[in-house]
Amino acid sequence: MRTAIYPGSFDPLTNGHLDIIQRAAKLFDRVIVAVARNESKHPLFTLQQRLKLVQLALGGIPNVEADAFDGLLVDYAQRREGDAIIRGLRAVSDFEFEFQLALMNRKLNSRVETIFMMPRETYTFLSSRLVKEVASLGGDVDPFVPAHVKSALRRKFGRRARKS
Ligand code: ADP
Repeated sequence: MRTAIYPGSFDPLTNGHLDIIQRAAKLFDRVIVAVARNESKHPLFTLQQRLKLVQLALGGIPNVEADAFDGLLVDYAQRREGDAIIRGLRAVSDFEFEFQLALMNRKLNSRVETIFMMPRETYTFLSSRLVKEVASLGGDVDPFVPAHVKSALRRKFGRRARKS
């Protein structure tokens, strides 16, 4: 049984994340989408809200589950018997940081491999940060996030986001 851990802030989950999840689900027996507490990043959504938004998006994918974690990713991966850590690569600009992170994680625990996956080209420009910015200014986030995430963004940003 091969298990992959897909960690991130998911603040909030986007269609780019979902694309990676679907690809990973085809390669692994089990995929755990691990929502990081990451309070230092001052997320817009609480950990529970981010987890819920991920869970709601996973409905139709039988071998994927969502979980929350705090602390070192490699410790979490070991606890959950993860064979690999999945990270998404959108552009060359992601590469340097992700490369450092992967090598640091390997230093911390040489048993966990990092695997990079690329999303559909149309999602290579997509990030949670940009989605929040567009939503906060009342722009249409329909093409970028599932409907329930759009509703959650609307609730956060109130009237301004209702234009879309
Ligand atoms: P983090 O704060 O850990 O970077 P994110 O939620 O922003 O968490 O991203 C989690 C993972 O998903 C990262 O590996 C990131 O590169 C990847 N990712 C984010 N957006 C996309 C996208 N549009 N396409 C592919 N991968 C993505």
